[in-house]
Amino acid sequence: MSYDFVIFDCDGVVVDTETTLLAVFYRMVKERGLPEPGPEAFLETFRGLKTASILESLEKKHEMTFPSSFLSEYREECQKVFHKGVEVIDGIEEVLKNLKKLFCMASNSPLDFIRDCLTLTNLLSYFDGKIFSAYDVGHWKPDPFLFQYAADQFGFQHDRCLVVEDSIPGVRAAVAASMSVLGYATGKQAIALKQEGATVISDMRSVLTYVSV
Ligand SMILES: [Mg+2]
Repeated sequence: MSYDFVIFDCDGVVVDTETTLLAVFYRMVKERGLPEPGPEAFLETFRGLKTASILESLEKKHEMTFPSSFLSEYREECQKVFHKGVEVIDGIEEVLKNLKKLFCMASNSPLDFIRDCLTLTNLLSYFDGKIFSAYDVGHWKPDPFLFQYAADQFGFQHDRCLVVEDSIPGVRAAVAASMSVLGYATGKQAIALKQEGATVISDMRSVLTYVSV
C-alpha cells in the first residue's frame, strides 16, 4: 500500500514532552488534594487527551473543583520544563529527511506549544506552514475532524493518508477518519494501539518502509 500524505502527531511521535508534562500535571493535581493512583496509571489513562478535558474528568470523578487559574499555572510550569530541554524521538529526523511524500503535523496541543517544541528541537523547518492544532479547528482527537481537515487542505483523499500516532485517542481519530495508522509504542501501550486498529512500530525509522519511497 502506498500513501500520498503522512500526518504526524507531535508529542510522543516527533518530540517527547508528554511523559514529563503529564508528570508535572500529576504532581500539581496531587498537591491540590486529588486522590489518584500512581503516576503510571495516570499516564496510561490520560495520554493523548486535551489537558482541559483531563481536568474536567478528574473534577467529575472526584467531585472537586480546581481553581480557575490551574491551567495557566500548569502552562507556566510547562515553560519551565521546556527550558530544561525537549527530547526528540529517536529516528524521527531521519524519517523527516528521507520521506519522499508530503507530510504535516496534526496535534491536540495549542499551536504556540507545538511551535515551541519544534523550535527548541530544530525541527520547525520540516513542518512550518503545515501544522494543524485542534485548538484552531475546535475539534480534538479522538474526533477525526482534525486529520480530515489537514488532508482536505492539501486535497488528499482520506484513505490515501497515513497517520503516525502514539496514543489511543490519536489512533481512534485516524481510524474514524478512514486513514491508515502506525502506532509508535512498546509493551502494554503497543497492545492497546493494535487493538484500536493501528499497525504497531517500535522503531520510528520503520515509517519509511511503510511509505513507499
Ligand atoms: Mg501523542
